[in-house]
Amino acid sequence: MRRASGAPLYFSHPACLEHDPREGMPGHPDTPQRLTAIERRLEAAGWLGWERREAPAASEADLERVHSRRLVESIRALCQAGGGAIDPDTYACAASFRAALHAAGGACEMTRALLAGEAAAGFCTLRPAGHHAEPDRAMGFCLFDSVAIAAELAIRELGAERVMVLDWDVHHGNGTVEAFRARPDVLVAGLHQEGVYPGSGPLADAGSGRGEGCTINLPVPGGSEGDLWLSLLEHVVVPVATQFEPQLILVSAGFDAHREDPLAGCRLESSDFARMARSVRDLARRLEAPLGAVLEGGYAPSALAESVEATLAALGGEGEAESVAPDPVLTPRAASQVGRHWSL
Ligand SMILES: [Zn+2]
Repeated sequence: MRRASGAPLYFSHPACLEHDPREGMPGHPDTPQRLTAIERRLEAAGWLGWERREAPAASEADLERVHSRRLVESIRALCQAGGGAIDPDTYACAASFRAALHAAGGACEMTRALLAGEAAAGFCTLRPAGHHAEPDRAMGFCLFDSVAIAAELAIRELGAERVMVLDWDVHHGNGTVEAFRARPDVLVAGLHQEGVYPGSGPLADAGSGRGEGCTINLPVPGGSEGDLWLSLLEHVVVPVATQFEPQLILVSAGFDAHREDPLAGCRLESSDFARMARSVRDLARRLEAPLGAVLEGGYAPSALAESVEATLAALGGEGEAESVAPDPVLTPRAASQVGRHWSL
Protein backbone atom coordinates (compact mmCIF):
# COMPACT_ATOMS: atom_id res chain seq x y z
CA MET A 1 0.00 0.00 0.00
CA ARG A 2 1.27 3.48 -0.81
CA ARG A 3 2.01 5.64 2.19
CA ALA A 4 -0.78 8.16 2.69
CA SER A 5 0.23 11.78 2.52
CA GLY A 6 -2.92 13.87 2.17
CA ALA A 7 -5.19 15.56 4.69
CA PRO A 8 -7.86 13.31 6.24
CA LEU A 9 -11.00 13.07 4.12
CA TYR A 10 -14.51 14.16 5.18
CA PHE A 11 -17.53 12.98 3.15
CA SER A 12 -21.04 14.45 3.16
CA HIS A 13 -23.94 14.98 0.72
CA PRO A 14 -27.04 17.20 0.84
CA ALA A 15 -29.27 14.25 -0.18
CA CYS A 16 -28.73 12.86 3.33
CA LEU A 17 -30.65 15.84 4.77
CA GLU A 18 -33.75 14.81 2.82
CA HIS A 19 -34.21 11.50 4.66
CA ASP A 20 -36.75 12.36 7.38
CA PRO A 21 -38.59 9.56 9.24
CA ARG A 22 -40.72 12.23 10.96
CA GLU A 23 -42.78 12.42 7.76
CA GLY A 24 -44.46 9.20 8.88
CA MET A 25 -43.37 8.93 12.51
CA PRO A 26 -43.68 12.30 14.31
CA GLY A 27 -41.11 12.65 17.09
CA HIS A 28 -38.67 10.19 15.49
CA PRO A 29 -35.17 10.88 16.88
CA ASP A 30 -33.30 10.44 13.58
CA THR A 31 -33.59 13.99 12.27
CA PRO A 32 -31.65 15.89 9.59
CA GLN A 33 -30.70 18.32 12.38
CA ARG A 34 -28.22 15.68 13.57
CA LEU A 35 -26.14 16.40 10.47
CA THR A 36 -26.59 20.17 10.50
CA ALA A 37 -25.50 20.31 14.16
CA ILE A 38 -22.30 18.42 13.29
CA GLU A 39 -21.54 20.57 10.26
CA ARG A 40 -22.20 23.88 12.01
CA ARG A 41 -19.73 22.89 14.68
CA LEU A 42 -17.08 21.62 12.26
CA GLU A 43 -17.42 24.72 10.10
CA ALA A 44 -16.78 26.90 13.15
CA ALA A 45 -13.65 24.82 13.76
CA GLY A 46 -12.40 25.33 10.19
CA TRP A 47 -13.18 21.67 9.44
CA LEU A 48 -10.08 20.86 11.56
CA GLY A 49 -7.98 20.80 8.39
CA TRP A 50 -9.94 17.91 6.90
CA GLU A 51 -10.50 17.88 3.12
CA ARG A 52 -14.23 17.92 2.32
CA ARG A 53 -15.52 15.74 -0.48
CA GLU A 54 -19.01 15.03 -1.80
CA ALA A 55 -20.22 11.47 -1.30
CA PRO A 56 -21.19 9.89 -4.63
CA ALA A 57 -24.21 7.59 -4.91
CA ALA A 58 -23.54 3.88 -4.64
CA SER A 59 -24.85 1.66 -7.41
CA GLU A 60 -27.43 -1.00 -6.67
CA ALA A 61 -24.71 -3.52 -7.51
CA ASP A 62 -22.66 -2.06 -4.64
CA LEU A 63 -25.61 -2.63 -2.26
CA GLU A 64 -26.08 -6.16 -3.56
CA ARG A 65 -22.59 -7.15 -2.45
CA VAL A 66 -24.19 -7.37 1.00
CA HIS A 67 -27.97 -7.17 0.54
CA SER A 68 -30.45 -9.29 -1.38
CA ARG A 69 -31.90 -7.93 -4.60
CA ARG A 70 -35.31 -8.43 -2.97
CA LEU A 71 -34.45 -5.96 -0.18
CA VAL A 72 -32.95 -3.36 -2.55
CA GLU A 73 -35.97 -3.52 -4.86
CA SER A 74 -38.47 -3.36 -2.01
CA ILE A 75 -36.89 -0.23 -0.47
CA ARG A 76 -36.62 1.44 -3.88
CA ALA A 77 -40.28 0.66 -4.62
CA LEU A 78 -41.43 1.86 -1.18
CA CYS A 79 -39.67 5.21 -1.70
CA GLN A 80 -40.92 5.58 -5.27
CA ALA A 81 -44.45 5.10 -3.91
CA GLY A 82 -43.92 8.02 -1.49
CA GLY A 83 -42.55 6.12 1.50
CA GLY A 84 -43.87 4.15 4.42
CA ALA A 85 -43.08 2.28 7.62
CA ILE A 86 -40.75 -0.71 7.47
CA ASP A 87 -41.15 -1.61 11.14
CA PRO A 88 -42.29 0.33 14.24
CA ASP A 89 -38.89 2.15 14.38
CA THR A 90 -37.92 2.43 10.75
CA TYR A 91 -39.48 4.73 8.17
CA ALA A 92 -38.43 5.45 4.60
CA CYS A 93 -39.76 8.63 2.95
CA ALA A 94 -39.67 9.40 -0.78
CA ALA A 95 -36.12 10.77 -0.52
CA SER A 96 -34.73 7.99 1.67
CA PHE A 97 -33.57 5.62 -1.06
CA ARG A 98 -31.42 8.34 -2.66
CA ALA A 99 -30.06 9.34 0.76
CA ALA A 100 -29.15 5.72 1.48
CA LEU A 101 -27.37 5.42 -1.89
CA HIS A 102 -25.19 8.42 -0.96
CA ALA A 103 -24.62 7.06 2.56
CA ALA A 104 -23.32 3.77 1.15
CA GLY A 105 -21.55 5.50 -1.74
CA GLY A 106 -19.65 7.80 0.61
CA ALA A 107 -18.40 4.84 2.63
CA CYS A 108 -17.33 3.13 -0.61
CA GLU A 109 -15.60 6.23 -2.01
CA MET A 110 -13.82 6.81 1.31
CA THR A 111 -12.61 3.20 1.23
CA ARG A 112 -11.36 3.57 -2.35
CA ALA A 113 -9.47 6.76 -1.48
CA LEU A 114 -7.95 5.28 1.69
CA LEU A 115 -6.79 2.09 -0.03
CA ALA A 116 -5.36 4.17 -2.88
CA GLY A 117 -3.20 5.94 -0.31
CA GLU A 118 -4.82 9.38 -0.67
CA ALA A 119 -5.12 9.77 3.11
CA ALA A 120 -4.67 7.77 6.28
CA ALA A 121 -8.07 8.62 7.79
CA GLY A 122 -11.60 9.40 6.68
CA PHE A 123 -15.00 10.19 8.15
CA CYS A 124 -18.50 10.05 6.64
CA THR A 125 -21.22 12.33 8.04
CA LEU A 126 -24.03 10.67 6.12
CA ARG A 127 -27.41 9.12 6.96
CA PRO A 128 -29.46 6.93 7.21
CA ALA A 129 -27.24 4.77 9.39
CA GLY A 130 -26.54 1.19 8.40
CA HIS A 131 -25.31 -1.22 11.05
CA HIS A 132 -28.71 -2.74 11.95
CA ALA A 133 -29.62 -3.53 8.31
CA GLU A 134 -29.21 -7.26 7.76
CA PRO A 135 -28.60 -8.81 4.33
CA ASP A 136 -32.33 -9.34 3.77
CA ARG A 137 -33.93 -6.95 6.25
CA ALA A 138 -33.93 -3.20 6.91
CA MET A 139 -34.48 -2.34 10.58
CA GLY A 140 -33.50 -0.05 13.45
CA PHE A 141 -33.48 3.25 11.45
CA CYS A 142 -31.15 1.54 8.92
CA LEU A 143 -31.85 0.72 5.27
CA PHE A 144 -28.51 -0.58 3.91
CA ASP A 145 -25.35 -1.41 5.86
CA SER A 146 -22.88 1.14 4.50
CA VAL A 147 -19.90 -0.13 6.51
CA ALA A 148 -20.50 -3.75 5.45
CA ILE A 149 -20.89 -2.65 1.82
CA ALA A 150 -17.58 -0.76 2.02
CA ALA A 151 -15.83 -3.74 3.64
CA GLU A 152 -17.05 -6.02 0.84
CA LEU A 153 -15.87 -3.51 -1.76
CA ALA A 154 -12.42 -3.50 -0.16
CA ILE A 155 -12.16 -7.28 -0.30
CA ARG A 156 -13.85 -8.06 -3.61
CA GLU A 157 -12.60 -5.12 -5.70
CA LEU A 158 -9.71 -3.35 -4.01
CA GLY A 159 -7.38 -6.17 -3.05
CA ALA A 160 -7.74 -6.12 0.74
CA GLU A 161 -7.39 -9.60 2.23
CA ARG A 162 -8.50 -8.73 5.77
CA VAL A 163 -10.75 -5.92 6.99
CA MET A 164 -11.66 -5.05 10.55
CA VAL A 165 -14.92 -3.35 11.55
CA LEU A 166 -15.05 -1.74 14.99
CA ASP A 167 -18.58 -0.79 16.08
CA TRP A 168 -18.78 1.56 19.06
CA ASP A 169 -22.45 2.52 18.65
CA VAL A 170 -24.33 1.85 21.92
CA HIS A 171 -26.62 -0.60 20.08
CA HIS A 172 -25.38 -3.96 18.84
CA GLY A 173 -24.46 -3.87 15.14
CA ASN A 174 -26.48 -6.97 14.26
CA GLY A 175 -26.50 -6.21 10.52
CA THR A 176 -22.71 -6.17 10.18
CA VAL A 177 -22.36 -9.24 12.41
CA GLU A 178 -24.89 -11.19 10.29
CA ALA A 179 -23.23 -10.12 7.03
CA PHE A 180 -19.85 -11.48 8.12
CA ARG A 181 -20.53 -14.02 10.87
CA ALA A 182 -19.19 -16.96 8.82
CA ARG A 183 -16.28 -15.05 7.27
CA PRO A 184 -12.64 -15.40 8.37
CA ASP A 185 -11.55 -12.31 6.39
CA VAL A 186 -13.67 -9.70 8.23
CA LEU A 187 -13.17 -9.20 11.97
CA VAL A 188 -16.25 -7.52 13.47
CA ALA A 189 -15.68 -6.23 17.01
CA GLY A 190 -18.33 -4.25 18.81
CA LEU A 191 -19.11 -2.74 22.19
CA HIS A 192 -22.74 -2.18 23.08
CA GLN A 193 -25.08 -1.76 26.03
CA GLU A 194 -26.73 -5.05 26.99
CA GLY A 195 -30.50 -5.23 27.23
CA VAL A 196 -31.31 -2.42 24.78
CA TYR A 197 -32.31 -2.58 21.10
CA PRO A 198 -31.90 -4.91 19.19
CA GLY A 199 -31.18 -7.35 22.02
CA SER A 200 -28.58 -9.40 20.12
CA GLY A 201 -24.81 -9.65 20.62
CA PRO A 202 -24.05 -11.86 23.63
CA LEU A 203 -20.41 -12.31 24.60
CA ALA A 204 -20.65 -16.04 23.80
CA ASP A 205 -21.51 -15.41 20.11
CA ALA A 206 -18.10 -15.49 18.42
CA GLY A 207 -19.28 -16.08 14.85
CA SER A 208 -19.96 -19.32 12.99
CA GLY A 209 -18.26 -21.85 10.77
CA ARG A 210 -15.06 -20.54 9.21
CA GLY A 211 -15.79 -17.19 10.85
CA GLU A 212 -15.69 -18.60 14.38
CA GLY A 213 -13.57 -16.23 16.47
CA CYS A 214 -13.95 -13.32 14.01
CA THR A 215 -17.02 -11.87 15.74
CA ILE A 216 -16.35 -10.14 19.06
CA ASN A 217 -19.42 -9.02 20.99
CA LEU A 218 -18.67 -6.98 24.10
CA PRO A 219 -21.92 -6.16 25.95
CA VAL A 220 -21.59 -3.67 28.80
CA PRO A 221 -24.12 -2.80 31.52
CA GLY A 222 -26.24 0.34 31.40
CA GLY A 223 -24.53 3.17 33.26
CA SER A 224 -21.08 2.20 31.95
CA GLU A 225 -18.57 5.03 31.68
CA GLY A 226 -15.74 5.76 29.28
CA ASP A 227 -13.06 3.91 31.25
CA LEU A 228 -14.88 0.60 30.79
CA TRP A 229 -15.33 1.12 27.05
CA LEU A 230 -11.69 2.14 26.63
CA SER A 231 -10.53 -0.76 28.78
CA LEU A 232 -12.34 -3.34 26.63
CA LEU A 233 -11.06 -1.66 23.48
CA GLU A 234 -7.47 -1.56 24.72
CA HIS A 235 -7.25 -4.94 26.44
CA VAL A 236 -9.52 -7.14 24.29
CA VAL A 237 -10.11 -5.62 20.84
CA VAL A 238 -6.68 -4.13 20.14
CA PRO A 239 -4.70 -7.32 20.95
CA VAL A 240 -6.97 -9.38 18.66
CA ALA A 241 -6.79 -6.78 15.90
CA THR A 242 -3.01 -6.77 16.19
CA GLN A 243 -2.97 -10.54 15.56
CA PHE A 244 -5.58 -10.28 12.77
CA GLU A 245 -3.49 -7.65 10.89
CA PRO A 246 -6.27 -5.96 8.90
CA GLN A 247 -5.30 -3.89 5.87
CA LEU A 248 -8.24 -1.55 6.49
CA ILE A 249 -10.08 -0.55 9.67
CA LEU A 250 -13.65 0.72 9.38
CA VAL A 251 -15.43 2.18 12.41
CA SER A 252 -19.21 2.15 12.81
CA ALA A 253 -19.08 5.36 14.80
CA GLY A 254 -22.27 5.84 16.74
CA PHE A 255 -22.27 8.43 19.49
CA ASP A 256 -25.35 7.28 21.39
CA ALA A 257 -23.31 5.91 24.31
CA HIS A 258 -23.00 9.60 25.27
CA ARG A 259 -24.43 10.42 28.70
CA GLU A 260 -26.83 12.95 27.16
CA ASP A 261 -28.24 10.58 24.55
CA PRO A 262 -31.97 9.86 24.97
CA LEU A 263 -31.97 6.34 23.47
CA ALA A 264 -29.68 4.43 25.85
CA GLY A 265 -28.14 4.54 29.29
CA CYS A 266 -24.36 4.68 29.05
CA ARG A 267 -22.44 7.62 30.43
CA LEU A 268 -19.64 8.51 28.03
CA GLU A 269 -18.41 12.08 27.67
CA SER A 270 -17.51 13.56 24.28
CA SER A 271 -13.86 13.28 25.28
CA ASP A 272 -14.28 9.51 25.74
CA PHE A 273 -14.97 9.15 22.01
CA ALA A 274 -11.70 11.00 21.39
CA ARG A 275 -9.92 8.56 23.71
CA MET A 276 -11.33 5.58 21.78
CA ALA A 277 -10.48 7.28 18.48
CA ARG A 278 -6.86 7.84 19.54
CA SER A 279 -6.57 4.20 20.56
CA VAL A 280 -7.84 2.89 17.23
CA ARG A 281 -5.86 5.54 15.32
CA ASP A 282 -2.64 4.32 16.95
CA LEU A 283 -3.60 0.70 16.19
CA ALA A 284 -4.10 1.64 12.54
CA ARG A 285 -0.76 3.45 12.42
CA ARG A 286 1.07 0.48 13.94
CA LEU A 287 -0.54 -1.81 11.35
CA GLU A 288 0.03 0.75 8.55
CA ALA A 289 -3.65 0.33 7.74
CA PRO A 290 -5.92 3.27 6.85
CA LEU A 291 -8.89 4.02 9.09
CA GLY A 292 -12.32 5.18 7.94
CA ALA A 293 -15.23 5.97 10.25
CA VAL A 294 -18.91 6.20 9.34
CA LEU A 295 -21.58 7.94 11.41
CA GLU A 296 -24.18 5.57 12.87
CA GLY A 297 -26.32 6.73 15.85
CA GLY A 298 -26.22 9.71 18.19
CA TYR A 299 -29.51 11.47 18.99
CA ALA A 300 -28.65 14.44 21.20
CA PRO A 301 -27.55 16.85 18.45
CA SER A 302 -25.25 19.08 20.51
CA ALA A 303 -23.56 16.13 22.26
CA LEU A 304 -23.30 14.39 18.90
CA ALA A 305 -21.66 17.41 17.27
CA GLU A 306 -19.21 17.84 20.16
CA SER A 307 -18.35 14.12 20.05
CA VAL A 308 -17.81 14.07 16.29
CA GLU A 309 -15.53 17.10 16.52
CA ALA A 310 -13.52 15.42 19.30
CA THR A 311 -13.30 12.22 17.24
CA LEU A 312 -12.11 14.02 14.11
CA ALA A 313 -9.52 15.96 16.08
CA ALA A 314 -8.24 12.68 17.52
CA LEU A 315 -8.25 10.74 14.24
CA GLY A 316 -6.33 13.44 12.41
CA GLY A 317 -4.11 14.46 15.32
CA GLU A 318 -0.92 13.42 17.00
CA GLY A 319 -1.82 13.43 20.72
CA GLU A 320 -0.69 10.51 22.79
CA ALA A 321 -3.15 7.62 23.20
CA GLU A 322 -4.03 7.00 26.81
CA SER A 323 -3.79 3.66 28.58
CA VAL A 324 -6.34 2.55 31.19
CA ALA A 325 -6.25 -0.36 33.61
CA PRO A 326 -8.28 -3.43 32.64
CA ASP A 327 -11.77 -3.32 34.14
CA PRO A 328 -11.52 -5.85 36.99
CA VAL A 329 -14.83 -7.60 36.23
CA LEU A 330 -15.55 -7.42 32.53
CA THR A 331 -12.08 -7.50 30.96
CA PRO A 332 -11.05 -10.95 32.32
CA ARG A 333 -14.46 -12.40 31.43
CA ALA A 334 -14.30 -11.02 27.88
CA ALA A 335 -10.64 -11.95 27.44
CA SER A 336 -11.29 -15.56 28.45
CA GLN A 337 -14.19 -15.85 25.97
CA VAL A 338 -12.42 -14.09 23.11
CA GLY A 339 -9.10 -15.74 24.01
CA ARG A 340 -10.54 -19.17 23.15
CA HIS A 341 -9.91 -18.15 19.57
CA TRP A 342 -6.98 -15.78 19.97
CA SER A 343 -3.87 -15.88 22.11
CA LEU A 344 -4.89 -13.32 24.68
ZN1 LIG B 1 -27.30 3.27 18.02
